[in-house]
Amino acid sequence: METEDTQGCAGAVACGQGIASEYPGDLLCRAFRGAGERRGFERTEAEFVAFKELKVRWQRSYRWAEFKVSDYLADAPAPVLEGMADSLFARIAGEDDSLSYPKAMTDWITAPSFAESKQPVYLRRSRNLTRSPVGDKRSLSESLERLEGLGLAEADPSVHLSWTRESSARKVGHCSVLMKVVSISNALDSDMIPEYVLDFCLYHELCHIAMGFDPSLKRHGERFAEMESRYPRKADAEEWLKRLCMHL
Ligand SMILES: [Zn+2]
Repeated sequence: METEDTQGCAGAVACGQGIASEYPGDLLCRAFRGAGERRGFERTEAEFVAFKELKVRWQRSYRWAEFKVSDYLADAPAPVLEGMADSLFARIAGEDDSLSYPKAMTDWITAPSFAESKQPVYLRRSRNLTRSPVGDKRSLSESLERLEGLGLAEADPSVHLSWTRESSARKVGHCSVLMKVVSISNALDSDMIPEYVLDFCLYHELCHIAMGFDPSLKRHGERFAEMESRYPRKADAEEWLKRLCMHL
């Protein structure tokens, strides 16, 4: 989850104090108000927002704070929201500068049911994805089959493979570990580029999925490099990407 400390965004809708309803925002407000009060904040507001990514934005002054929380958490149970509120206030107050999340939250967002229920929403919000593994010239499913043949990957129906509609910038691959979505730039949907270059890019992104969620965001650490180096033509593929001024 990304967190952003923003300035000057539109004010959040005030929490409905005392309104007896089952609106998920009530749980969220209670969680954040409680955490804020414990740290001496006079006013705390929180609302769910339909961000594409799982993230929280906030703005605060000395004694008030407003949070916009990804609506992927709208059905999270109270302990998850309370733990998140507490850890965000700890970060705001400078008590905790680690990027770790409370265990209840990590467990909830990495449970298979999370990706299963949120992935369709994430895909709808990902406007630049074709939502299909079949491109004009190349198929990501066939690329995956080649990786399986090399013993480097296993078919996992919970992982969604998609081409991008447009090749933005020079980044050829992207993955959301939490949503289990891998996307490859349509710049590689070409028979001018060898298959093994595409396969390597897909393998790189699948390595991220295999390594699992890491809140520290050290995406290309030692363990990752070890796994990635199992690809037989890694050096050749990287040379190709370099020549195309593209990167992973
Ligand atoms: Zn990567």
